[in-house]
Amino acid sequence: MKIKSVNLETVCGITSVLPENDKVEIAFAGRSNVGKSSLINALMNRKAYARTSSQPGKTQTINFYNINETLYFVDLPGYGFAKVSKDTVAKWGKMIDNYLENSKVLRLVFLLVDIRHKPNANDIQMYDWCIEYGFNPIIIATKEDKVKRSQKAKLIKEIKQTLNVVDGTPVIPFSSLTKSGRDEIMEYIDMVYEG
Ligand code: GDP
Repeated sequence: MKIKSVNLETVCGITSVLPENDKVEIAFAGRSNVGKSSLINALMNRKAYARTSSQPGKTQTINFYNINETLYFVDLPGYGFAKVSKDTVAKWGKMIDNYLENSKVLRLVFLLVDIRHKPNANDIQMYDWCIEYGFNPIIIATKEDKVKRSQKAKLIKEIKQTLNVVDGTPVIPFSSLTKSGRDEIMEYIDMVYEG
Protein backbone atom coordinates (compact mmCIF):
# COMPACT_ATOMS: atom_id res chain seq x y z
CA MET A 1 0.00 0.00 0.00
CA LYS A 2 1.22 3.45 -0.86
CA ILE A 3 0.06 6.06 1.61
CA LYS A 4 -1.30 9.01 -0.32
CA SER A 5 -3.47 10.79 2.20
CA VAL A 6 -3.52 11.05 5.97
CA ASN A 7 -6.13 12.81 8.05
CA LEU A 8 -6.45 12.92 11.83
CA GLU A 9 -10.20 12.41 11.74
CA THR A 10 -11.22 11.72 15.34
CA VAL A 11 -9.66 12.37 18.72
CA CYS A 12 -11.37 10.64 21.63
CA GLY A 13 -10.89 11.52 25.29
CA ILE A 14 -12.06 9.51 28.26
CA THR A 15 -15.66 10.72 28.00
CA SER A 16 -15.94 10.65 24.20
CA VAL A 17 -18.09 8.17 22.38
CA LEU A 18 -15.90 6.08 20.09
CA PRO A 19 -16.56 6.45 16.36
CA GLU A 20 -18.36 3.65 14.57
CA ASN A 21 -16.04 3.44 11.61
CA ASP A 22 -16.89 1.37 8.58
CA LYS A 23 -13.30 0.87 7.47
CA VAL A 24 -10.70 -1.49 8.89
CA GLU A 25 -8.79 -0.27 11.95
CA ILE A 26 -5.20 -1.12 12.83
CA ALA A 27 -4.21 -0.17 16.38
CA PHE A 28 -0.85 0.77 17.89
CA ALA A 29 -0.25 0.33 21.62
CA GLY A 30 2.76 0.81 23.83
CA ARG A 31 4.35 2.55 26.77
CA SER A 32 4.86 6.31 26.65
CA ASN A 33 8.17 7.12 25.02
CA VAL A 34 8.46 3.71 23.34
CA GLY A 35 8.56 5.41 19.92
CA LYS A 36 4.90 5.02 18.91
CA SER A 37 4.49 8.47 17.35
CA SER A 38 7.80 8.06 15.53
CA LEU A 39 6.67 4.71 14.11
CA ILE A 40 3.28 6.05 13.01
CA ASN A 41 4.95 9.03 11.36
CA ALA A 42 7.42 6.71 9.61
CA LEU A 43 4.63 4.50 8.31
CA MET A 44 2.69 7.55 7.09
CA ASN A 45 5.83 9.09 5.59
CA ARG A 46 5.19 12.20 7.62
CA LYS A 47 7.81 13.96 9.71
CA ALA A 48 5.69 15.05 12.63
CA TYR A 49 2.03 14.36 12.05
CA ALA A 50 1.50 12.11 15.04
CA ARG A 51 2.70 13.85 18.18
CA THR A 52 6.13 12.87 19.42
CA SER A 53 7.77 13.00 22.82
CA SER A 54 4.75 12.40 24.98
CA GLN A 55 4.78 14.21 28.28
CA PRO A 56 3.67 12.68 31.55
CA GLY A 57 0.21 13.88 32.39
CA LYS A 58 -0.63 15.04 28.88
CA THR A 59 -4.17 14.42 27.74
CA GLN A 60 -4.73 10.78 27.05
CA THR A 61 -6.60 10.31 23.81
CA ILE A 62 -7.28 7.72 21.16
CA ASN A 63 -6.46 9.20 17.78
CA PHE A 64 -7.95 7.88 14.55
CA TYR A 65 -5.92 8.60 11.41
CA ASN A 66 -7.82 8.07 8.20
CA ILE A 67 -5.36 6.61 5.67
CA ASN A 68 -6.18 6.91 1.97
CA GLU A 69 -9.89 6.94 2.89
CA THR A 70 -9.56 3.14 3.13
CA LEU A 71 -8.40 2.28 6.66
CA TYR A 72 -7.59 3.78 10.04
CA PHE A 73 -4.45 3.81 12.11
CA VAL A 74 -5.58 3.99 15.72
CA ASP A 75 -3.04 5.53 18.10
CA LEU A 76 -3.91 4.26 21.57
CA PRO A 77 -2.84 6.31 24.61
CA GLY A 78 0.69 5.61 25.82
CA TYR A 79 0.89 4.03 29.24
CA GLY A 80 3.24 3.47 32.09
CA PHE A 81 4.56 6.84 33.17
CA ALA A 82 5.57 6.42 36.79
CA LYS A 83 4.48 9.97 37.55
CA VAL A 84 0.81 9.72 36.60
CA SER A 85 -1.72 9.18 39.36
CA LYS A 86 -3.54 5.92 39.97
CA ASP A 87 -6.69 7.62 38.76
CA THR A 88 -5.08 8.38 35.40
CA VAL A 89 -3.87 4.80 35.09
CA ALA A 90 -7.40 3.56 35.75
CA LYS A 91 -8.78 5.92 33.08
CA TRP A 92 -6.18 4.75 30.62
CA GLY A 93 -7.14 1.15 31.27
CA LYS A 94 -10.83 1.87 30.80
CA MET A 95 -10.24 3.66 27.51
CA ILE A 96 -8.16 0.89 26.00
CA ASP A 97 -10.37 -1.87 27.35
CA ASN A 98 -13.47 -0.13 26.05
CA TYR A 99 -11.92 0.33 22.63
CA LEU A 100 -10.74 -3.29 22.32
CA GLU A 101 -14.13 -4.53 23.44
CA ASN A 102 -16.28 -2.34 21.22
CA SER A 103 -14.54 -1.70 17.93
CA LYS A 104 -16.25 -3.71 15.24
CA VAL A 105 -13.60 -3.11 12.62
CA LEU A 106 -10.34 -3.58 14.52
CA ARG A 107 -8.37 -6.21 12.63
CA LEU A 108 -4.80 -5.92 13.84
CA VAL A 109 -2.96 -4.70 16.93
CA PHE A 110 0.71 -3.80 16.97
CA LEU A 111 2.17 -3.79 20.47
CA LEU A 112 5.37 -1.76 20.73
CA VAL A 113 8.09 -2.52 23.24
CA ASP A 114 11.56 -0.98 23.51
CA ILE A 115 14.06 -3.58 22.31
CA ARG A 116 16.45 -2.64 25.13
CA HIS A 117 14.10 -3.31 28.01
CA LYS A 118 12.35 -6.37 29.26
CA PRO A 119 8.56 -5.81 28.91
CA ASN A 120 7.05 -4.63 32.21
CA ALA A 121 3.76 -5.40 33.98
CA ASN A 122 1.86 -2.85 31.85
CA ASP A 123 3.14 -4.38 28.63
CA ILE A 124 2.12 -7.83 29.82
CA GLN A 125 -1.31 -6.52 30.78
CA MET A 126 -1.74 -4.89 27.38
CA TYR A 127 -0.72 -8.10 25.62
CA ASP A 128 -3.11 -10.16 27.75
CA TRP A 129 -6.02 -7.76 27.11
CA CYS A 130 -5.50 -8.12 23.38
CA ILE A 131 -5.55 -11.90 23.66
CA GLU A 132 -8.64 -11.73 25.86
CA TYR A 133 -10.50 -9.78 23.18
CA GLY A 134 -9.42 -12.18 20.47
CA PHE A 135 -6.50 -10.27 18.97
CA ASN A 136 -3.11 -11.75 18.47
CA PRO A 137 -0.82 -8.73 18.60
CA ILE A 138 2.24 -8.43 16.43
CA ILE A 139 5.14 -7.14 18.52
CA ILE A 140 7.33 -4.30 17.30
CA ALA A 141 10.67 -3.99 19.08
CA THR A 142 11.47 -0.28 18.72
CA LYS A 143 14.78 1.64 18.71
CA GLU A 144 16.64 -1.31 17.27
CA ASP A 145 19.42 1.08 16.15
CA LYS A 146 20.36 1.37 19.84
CA VAL A 147 21.48 -2.25 20.22
CA LYS A 148 24.29 -4.25 18.68
CA ARG A 149 23.37 -6.66 15.94
CA SER A 150 24.84 -9.51 17.99
CA GLN A 151 22.48 -8.79 20.91
CA LYS A 152 19.26 -8.74 18.92
CA ALA A 153 18.31 -12.41 18.87
CA LYS A 154 18.73 -12.68 22.64
CA LEU A 155 16.67 -9.55 23.30
CA ILE A 156 13.88 -10.70 21.01
CA LYS A 157 13.80 -14.05 22.74
CA GLU A 158 13.53 -12.30 26.10
CA ILE A 159 10.63 -10.16 24.85
CA LYS A 160 8.79 -13.26 23.61
CA GLN A 161 9.35 -15.09 26.86
CA THR A 162 8.35 -12.20 29.11
CA LEU A 163 5.13 -11.51 27.22
CA ASN A 164 4.57 -15.24 26.92
CA VAL A 165 3.50 -14.77 23.31
CA VAL A 166 1.42 -17.19 21.32
CA ASP A 167 3.67 -19.50 19.26
CA GLY A 168 4.55 -18.01 15.89
CA THR A 169 3.96 -14.40 16.98
CA PRO A 170 6.21 -12.11 14.94
CA VAL A 171 8.54 -9.72 16.76
CA ILE A 172 9.70 -7.10 14.27
CA PRO A 173 12.74 -4.97 15.15
CA PHE A 174 12.16 -1.39 13.98
CA SER A 175 14.12 1.86 13.91
CA SER A 176 12.55 5.20 13.11
CA LEU A 177 16.04 6.52 12.37
CA THR A 178 17.02 3.98 9.72
CA LYS A 179 13.42 2.86 8.91
CA SER A 180 14.58 -0.73 9.13
CA GLY A 181 11.58 -2.99 9.73
CA ARG A 182 9.19 -0.59 8.03
CA ASP A 183 8.66 -2.77 4.96
CA GLU A 184 7.89 -5.83 7.04
CA ILE A 185 5.35 -3.90 9.12
CA MET A 186 3.73 -2.58 5.91
CA GLU A 187 3.43 -6.17 4.66
CA TYR A 188 1.29 -7.06 7.67
CA ILE A 189 -0.82 -3.95 7.10
CA ASP A 190 -1.24 -4.90 3.44
CA MET A 191 -2.37 -8.40 4.41
CA VAL A 192 -5.16 -6.99 6.58
CA TYR A 193 -6.09 -4.33 4.09
CA GLU A 194 -6.28 -6.72 1.18
CA GLY A 195 -8.51 -8.92 3.26
P1 GDP B 1 5.92 7.90 22.00
O1 GDP B 1 5.78 8.57 23.33
O2 GDP B 1 5.76 6.42 22.12
O3 GDP B 1 5.03 8.48 20.94
O4 GDP B 1 7.44 8.08 21.57
P2 GDP B 1 8.12 9.10 20.53
O5 GDP B 1 7.89 8.65 19.14
O6 GDP B 1 7.72 10.48 20.90
O7 GDP B 1 9.66 8.85 20.86
C1 GDP B 1 10.18 9.02 22.17
C2 GDP B 1 11.66 9.36 22.08
O8 GDP B 1 12.38 8.25 21.53
C3 GDP B 1 11.94 10.55 21.18
O9 GDP B 1 13.01 11.26 21.74
C4 GDP B 1 12.35 9.89 19.86
O10 GDP B 1 13.22 10.70 19.10
C5 GDP B 1 13.06 8.63 20.34
N1 GDP B 1 12.91 7.54 19.36
C6 GDP B 1 11.77 7.07 18.82
N2 GDP B 1 12.00 6.05 17.96
C7 GDP B 1 13.34 5.88 17.94
C8 GDP B 1 14.22 4.97 17.23
O11 GDP B 1 13.82 4.11 16.44
N3 GDP B 1 15.57 5.08 17.48
C9 GDP B 1 16.06 6.00 18.36
N4 GDP B 1 17.38 6.00 18.55
N5 GDP B 1 15.26 6.87 19.03
C10 GDP B 1 13.93 6.81 18.83
